Amino acid sequence: MKRLIRQGDRSDQVADVQARLRALGYMVDDDSGDFGASTQLALKTFQQHRGLIADGIVGPDSWDQLVEAGWRLGDRVLYMKYPAFRGDDVQTLQNRLNALGFDAGMEDGILGVDTDRAVKSFQREYGVAEDGIVGPHTTIALTGLRIDRPGTAAELREDLRRAEHGGIHQALIAIDPGHGADDSGGLSEGLSEADLCWDLASRLAERLTRFGARVRFTRPETENPDSTTRAKRANQISADLFISLHFNAHSKPSAEGSSTYYWRTSRGGLQLAELIQDELTRLGLKDCRSHPGSFAILRETRMPAVLVEPAYLTSPEDAKRLDDPEFRTAVADSLTSAIRRYFESK
Ligand SMILES: [Zn+2]
Repeated sequence: MKRLIRQGDRSDQVADVQARLRALGYMVDDDSGDFGASTQLALKTFQQHRGLIADGIVGPDSWDQLVEAGWRLGDRVLYMKYPAFRGDDVQTLQNRLNALGFDAGMEDGILGVDTDRAVKSFQREYGVAEDGIVGPHTTIALTGLRIDRPGTAAELREDLRRAEHGGIHQALIAIDPGHGADDSGGLSEGLSEADLCWDLASRLAERLTRFGARVRFTRPETENPDSTTRAKRANQISADLFISLHFNAHSKPSAEGSSTYYWRTSRGGLQLAELIQDELTRLGLKDCRSHPGSFAILRETRMPAVLVEPAYLTSPEDAKRLDDPEFRTAVADSLTSAIRRYFESK
């Protein structure tokens, strides 16, 4: 692209721009090759959607984006090369890989080292030739699983992990005590969220190991790693299950009860979240239900993961109960029962 294309222009290049905009679903009423108001409006909308300056002029950036936006996964064979493949097909690839738990890095539409590594891990796990080439086989494996039956690949992953173990015995469980170090989390009535999380994590670990599970914490008592680090630690040890412990807080003291979050496409996460709610509410805690959550810790962990908030620190009722070590033991027992039921359900 050698020069800018703008309103008033008449050329084959304008016709090309119009054809690309139409293919992307933008309405263009001007005659072919005739850059009128309609073409400009479509272009401005496109520029806005792509985070470009919406000046209605086709410069090099807009042209690149028009070309990149046109690629759909499966249109061409993708692999790592220099200069790298760029396009929406690459971004879709990265998005699918990340959703399946293969770390493709930033979803930037550029096929680099991270994406290449993720493609190869995916191929290895799904029995496709591990050549890093995203051709028909790999595309079918990736898209067939996701498009035809949404969630299937993630479910398959989770089922495989559970089938390998069978029961809680020998299962490797990552416990993530929220906050820590200089971050005390919520504070109420002399209770620090970080201390409570640590206390509950210790009680839970003790109970889980009693049933033959192996347990790892995502942090030592004196550290407060970020979510990505916590998730990475669980991923590195290939934990079978991830449970993040927090306590809730609200400006209204009347807010009370238990809630559990899971990553929205994780069937295992949902199942465990519901079991946890079932167990915790048996203790008389109010049922604030399970919810899909988009926390980084749920997204970046590759195994079924939940974030549980058993009670509100800011509720006088809940806080009074939490103050009692026996109640905290009961909470740990409930979480253990939920985890055992989860592993037994397969
Ligand atoms: Zn918290």
